[in-house]
Amino acid sequence: MTSRPRVRTTLDSIPTYKPGRPPSPRAGGLPAYKLSSNENPYPPLPGVLKAAVDAAATMNRYPDMGNTALYDAIAQRFRVPVTSLAAGTGSVAVLYHLLQALCTDGDEVVYAWRSFEAYPIAVGVTGAAAVHVPLKPDARHDLDAMADAITERTRAVLVCTPNNPTGPAVHRDELLAFVDRVPPDVVVVIDEAYREFVRDPEIIDGLEVWRGRENVCVLRTFSKAYGMAGFRVGFAVAPEPLADAIRKCALPFGVSHVAQQAAIAALAHETELLEQVEAVVGERSRVHAGLREQGWNIPDAQGNFVWLPLGEDAAAFAAACEEAGIVVRPFPGDGVRASLGEVEANDLLLRVAADWRAAHA
Ligand SMILES: *Cc1c(COP(=O)(O)O)cnc(C)c1O
Repeated sequence: MTSRPRVRTTLDSIPTYKPGRPPSPRAGGLPAYKLSSNENPYPPLPGVLKAAVDAAATMNRYPDMGNTALYDAIAQRFRVPVTSLAAGTGSVAVLYHLLQALCTDGDEVVYAWRSFEAYPIAVGVTGAAAVHVPLKPDARHDLDAMADAITERTRAVLVCTPNNPTGPAVHRDELLAFVDRVPPDVVVVIDEAYREFVRDPEIIDGLEVWRGRENVCVLRTFSKAYGMAGFRVGFAVAPEPLADAIRKCALPFGVSHVAQQAAIAALAHETELLEQVEAVVGERSRVHAGLREQGWNIPDAQGNFVWLPLGEDAAAFAAACEEAGIVVRPFPGDGVRASLGEVEANDLLLRVAADWRAAHA
């Protein structure tokens, strides 16, 4: 007997999630911008906001646990059967539920590294071991090496495309060849959180890979392009037995009524939202080209962010950004991820980056 509650020892090795910091107030009332969480910088569309406000009128009631209207709207929009859908409080939650459905102590989950910082945590809490496969020098997934890393213990492989935080998207030919190599009892999770921002013509839509395959699951979210990060809605499109399993592991009544109604409204206002996405993509082209002109060797950027491979200088660069009024996301020893935000914020990033190069040439 011990004298204290015993937390599972497996938690000792799990990193704590570090959310993007909000900007601290600046002297003299200077503006400060948050470029640290890959959020949509635009305020909600009036129609989406109204749907949420109206939905708040019934907060005394539990939400529809079956997400019926939301599933109908998603099924119609993406031409998938309702039975293949599983929603959660963000696609990170859906990933937790999926991994909980698949993994236990001693299992393994393969993914690229560096990639999304939620992966080590989501895998770790199940008791499974994370198998990190280094990105290629151009910051792309090394899908051959990832297939080679699969063992009899592997339950899932996570493919983050475009990869957060480095930016490149996985290409059609390599993804199809990869999926063919993965054993049928191993689930390929295609995390497409930034799908709407991709302009690389060589990619394949994850749903095309999912269709007709029994071990492919696609994750999508309303947090990024749809501008609903604060409301927490994401979903999986999965083979039916897997969708069932995810829903079994989900928290009951997870997605609030307000969030369900806002997501339905967001789909109804998709044209306007995708115009915002187009503007962000325009800013991405401008910032990416500007950084290249300054001499930065940065990878392709297919999400709503750019990656500066600063290595040991990551923290110092982030501090310089903060000084200038933008909060970016440093990954110490590796690089800095800067979300595309307001035009003025992106201009500040370009200015800090230019000054940095001038000082470190
Ligand atoms: C932002 C993000 C998600 C989704 O996050 P939620 O807000 O939980 O929907 C999923 N995967 C990646 C790689 C992301 O960057």
